[in-house]
Amino acid sequence: MLAEEQVVRHEDLGDPDLRLRRLVLHGPIARTAKAGQFVAIQVQDQARLSMDPLLRRPISIAEISPDQEEITLLYRIKGRGTEILAQAKCGELLSVIGPLGNGFSLPQEGELWLAAGGIGIFPLYALAQSALNRGLGVRLFWGGETKLFLESAGLSQWRALGIPLHLSTLDGSLGYRGLVTELIETELLRVYGQAKQEYAKNDRGNGCGVSVAACGPKKMMESCTELALRFNVPVEVSLEERMGCAVGACLGCVCALRNETKEIIHKKVCTDGPVFRGEEVVWDESC
Ligand code: FAD
Repeated sequence: MLAEEQVVRHEDLGDPDLRLRRLVLHGPIARTAKAGQFVAIQVQDQARLSMDPLLRRPISIAEISPDQEEITLLYRIKGRGTEILAQAKCGELLSVIGPLGNGFSLPQEGELWLAAGGIGIFPLYALAQSALNRGLGVRLFWGGETKLFLESAGLSQWRALGIPLHLSTLDGSLGYRGLVTELIETELLRVYGQAKQEYAKNDRGNGCGVSVAACGPKKMMESCTELALRFNVPVEVSLEERMGCAVGACLGCVCALRNETKEIIHKKVCTDGPVFRGEEVVWDESC
C-alpha cells in the first residue's frame, strides 16, 4: 500500500557519532505489518521540490504497534538517501510503501534463536515480540564491533525482554571476543551434544526444536546457514540488496537461489523475500 505516514518521533539512537536513528511513523501500515517486512520510503528533498534521489530507500520494520498504528524504523545514516531521511521532522508526512516483502515465519513450537550481526538486529525485535507472544522460547545471539555499538543499537531494550542474550564484540569490550557465529556454534553443541548432532544428521527434521532467524552481513548469514545445516536446524535469513522499485517490477534486486532439485533459479528480494530459507540461497552468487 502507498501511504502517507506521519513522523511522531525521530531521534538519535544511542551515541550520535554512530549515526543510528529511530523513526516512529503513524499511519495505516502498522495495521497489517509483520516481523521481517520492510517499507520503501521516499527520501526526496522536499525543500528543493526535487525528484532526486528518485529511488525510495528500503528500511525494515523494527517494531509494530497495530493499536497505536505506529511502526518503528531503526536505520544507519549511510549515504545521500538516509542523510535526507534524517532531516524529517515530527509532524511531517512521508510517502511510504509498505508493508513489503514476506517476513519471517514463526515456528509452531520450540525455541527461536535470533542471530544478528551489527545493525542486522533491527528487524529482529518485532520477531522476538511475536515469538514471545506465541509462547515460544527466544534467545538472542548478537555480535557488534564494540560495547558502545551494542548499547547504542538497543541493548537495554533487548535486556528488558528478559530472554537469554549471547553477546559478542570484535574488541572484547562486551561479551565474548570474536564472531557471533562462534557463540552460536558453542550453544548448538551444548544443546545438541555430539551424539545428537550425529542423530540429527541422519534423521532430518528431528532436532531439538530450535529454529534460527538470521540477519546481518552476508558472510555471517552464510555461516549461520552452514551451522544450522550441520545441526539440522531450520534457518531463515533476511537478504539485503539494493532495490529499484521495491515492488517486484524492475528486477533490480534479483538474487540466485537453488530450488528443491538444486537448479539455480532467480527470485526478487523485494517481493519473494527478503526472507529466504538459508539452504536455498546461493551464497557465492546471490546479492
Ligand atoms: P546510498 O548513497 O544509496 O549508498 C550508500 C552506501 O550504502 C553505498 O556503499 C551502497 O553500496 C550501500 N547501500 C545502499 N543500499 C544498500 C542496500 N540495500 N543494502 C546494502 N548496502 C546498501 N538499513 C538500515 O539502516 N536499517 C534497516 O532496517 C534496513 N533494512 C533494510 C531492509 C531491506 C529489505 C533492504 C534491502 C535494505 C535495508 N537497509 C536497512 C539498508 C538501507 O536500505 C540502505 O542503507 C540505504 O538504502 C542506503 O541508502 P543511502 O541513500 O543512504 O545510501
